[in-house]
Amino acid sequence: TTHRQVALITGANKGIGRATAEQLAALGMTVLVGARNPQRGEQAAEAVRSAGGDAHAVTLDVTDRGAAEEAARWVEERFGHLDVLVNNAGISGSGQVAPEDALDRVPSTVDLDLVRAVFETNVFGVIAVTNAMLPLLRRSPAARIVNVSSSAASLTVNSDPDGPLAGFTSAAYTPSKTALNAVTVQYANELRKDGILVNAADPGYVDTDINGHRGFLTPAQGAAVVVRLATLGADGPTAGFFGEAGPLPW
Ligand code: NDP
Repeated sequence: TTHRQVALITGANKGIGRATAEQLAALGMTVLVGARNPQRGEQAAEAVRSAGGDAHAVTLDVTDRGAAEEAARWVEERFGHLDVLVNNAGISGSGQVAPEDALDRVPSTVDLDLVRAVFETNVFGVIAVTNAMLPLLRRSPAARIVNVSSSAASLTVNSDPDGPLAGFTSAAYTPSKTALNAVTVQYANELRKDGILVNAADPGYVDTDINGHRGFLTPAQGAAVVVRLATLGADGPTAGFFGEAGPLPW
């Protein structure tokens, strides 16, 4: 029997996650389209199938630990293992407004509940989903985990007084992605001995709902680096942070 690789992408009903699902399906993987809304997930899975791919919708709100465990049980019954996990689901916390009007614009006045909500999705959700899926990933001969981060996560860039982000503040989203990068390194170090490669990806500034369509890259272009990290060979990097042009500073 042929071994068809199985990939789960969270938040895959639209944007970069959906483009990632399309591209992994085009490479011959069975893609599990994670979506918190079952209808939106089914629509995206159907679109992948109409393009000739093998896709199944999986209802998964990453902030619902029970949902992550239920999704893992479903994947186990249906496929018995998982080869690729793309932790893509994310929220900005700012609403779809201009960056200068973002609700999480400055730390001194930010609503702590908003910060908690952003971390719940962008950081704790990743831990919940990863831990639910790890027993299945360990059954793969070459499992890969990709965490969709952001160039804005870089402490090096943020703290550079002459850098592009000097004077820029973001009290919830940016720290959540910095924390996601830290979480990425922790998993990479734990799983190194098991041959599971874990990396963080910066998709670039992509035209999606999360930024009110201010981005200039297409979702397909943004997904390219995610797909590359999801399909690394055994000699590929782990504990890295990469954009399309190469490694990024932490
Ligand atoms: P979108 O808003 O288009 O997509 C976000 C996806 O995440 C949607 O499918 C959304 O589902 C899902 N999602 C949000 N919360 C949850 C949750 N609790 N459980 C499950 N799914 C959830 O934005 P992008 O495609 O741009 O974002 C994808 C990732 O890329 C995010 O992590 C984002 O931070 C990151 N990124 C994006 C950049 C850009 O320029 N666009 C730049 C850098 C990083 P629903 O449709 O139900 O809301």
